[in-house]
Amino acid sequence: MLSPNTPAGNPKYAWSAIARETPPKRSVEERIGDFGEIYSNLDEAKVREQASRCIQCPEPTCAQACPLCNRIPEWLALAAQGLFLEASELSRATSNMPEICSRVCPQEKLCEGSCLLAGKADPVAIGAVERFVNDFALARDAVGAACEPPNGFRVAVIGSGPGGMACADELVQLGFDVTVFEAQLIPGGLLVNGIPAFKLDKGIVERRIELLVRRGVKFQLGVRVGWDVSLAHLRRDYDAVFLGIGAQRSKPLGIPGAELPGVMDALPFLIQKNVVSPLVDLPPIDAAGKRVVVLGGGDTAMDCLRTAIRSGAREAVCLYRRDLANMPGNRKEYANALEEGARFDFLTNPIELKAGADGAVAEVRCVRMELGEADASGRRKPRAVKGSEFSVPADVVLAAYGFEPVPFPPGSDFAALATDEWGGLKIDASQMTSVPGVFAGGDSTRGPSLVVHAVRDGRKAAQGIRRYLHVA
Ligand code: SF4
Repeated sequence: MLSPNTPAGNPKYAWSAIARETPPKRSVEERIGDFGEIYSNLDEAKVREQASRCIQCPEPTCAQACPLCNRIPEWLALAAQGLFLEASELSRATSNMPEICSRVCPQEKLCEGSCLLAGKADPVAIGAVERFVNDFALARDAVGAACEPPNGFRVAVIGSGPGGMACADELVQLGFDVTVFEAQLIPGGLLVNGIPAFKLDKGIVERRIELLVRRGVKFQLGVRVGWDVSLAHLRRDYDAVFLGIGAQRSKPLGIPGAELPGVMDALPFLIQKNVVSPLVDLPPIDAAGKRVVVLGGGDTAMDCLRTAIRSGAREAVCLYRRDLANMPGNRKEYANALEEGARFDFLTNPIELKAGADGAVAEVRCVRMELGEADASGRRKPRAVKGSEFSVPADVVLAAYGFEPVPFPPGSDFAALATDEWGGLKIDASQMTSVPGVFAGGDSTRGPSLVVHAVRDGRKAAQGIRRYLHVA
């Protein structure tokens, strides 16, 4: 895509002479044989070249579209000069896990989707440069663990997903004494359990957690708040609390047959296949040689399809009631799923799950849908086409209709926290809940959302806690 307007030698027009390049992707044959990441990094020369495509807008729309307001043009300029450590340092000033966000953000909807070049040419490969410079710095142990001197305040962070990690990281660097409580035996929350290893290697999350430990964050694993620890206990022992507890209960399928053997939730399937650890103790789910049908059209559905393929499934079919244009899932991951052999049946709504002779699920009864008028969210509402019922054969059915908060146990004093009609925790502008000194963020307040949104919430809550405790 060359501009007619390309004064030779003027770096401002590098974008028109240099084509966008994205990180190399492993071949389909190779990548479906394991759970390793499918992308690798560009080489140094290519990173410099790609970063040089940035036209250095005075009011960068990419930074405005980044939930963390990352200083993108500034670190692109440093990367273009080969100053990778300096670029990484600047990117870390606004992000607690740039090497993770660069791997899992849907850049086409965020920074790259708002790059001024998009439309004229292909956008700058922002995610690829962010990933490279931060992997470069981490591989050289050039990410310092220094923190402010202790300020005497103790904070409990509940949940070690992206929101909890970001909040803990901000606070420990400000001199707070931070303890993270995690219900699972492996820290990382959604980053470990919800995102498959072929999108985010578990070692990258472990490396981030090790850095938190080096900075002084303490982890207490296998502690379920509300069950093992009360809110009163936390408020007595800590000066403030941050809740980053996510929304991990699968939304019910709500159709007959949902309890049949062979029908299961997406999350246990993803955890079992992607987290190889003796600490994961889940009943085995065998997908090898089976017809796996995934219900839903979001990122979790695509993760399930691709995980099923890597687990040897004979077929991996997605049933989604709207069309592709209205499907919420990330387009890059959709393309990857198609390449790997997944099949998508759009405008298809499951209405019943039927058992075979052995009593386990054997078919998904479906009805064809058509799209009607747009609803309040702007998406066109699907409606059933009369007399269009048909069946899709299935040995395993995975429910990926989204997630909602896990309720606290009956009688728990966490019930004192105000929630909305969806069950999400209510918060004010500083992320403080209805209970003074108790803050919250991430999916437990906003519903299932992006990693980068949870990081933003965690950072904002850390500032709220700092102000609440009058720390300068
Ligand atoms: Fe883009 Fe996400 Fe990185 Fe922001 S955090 S610059 S949106 S990839």
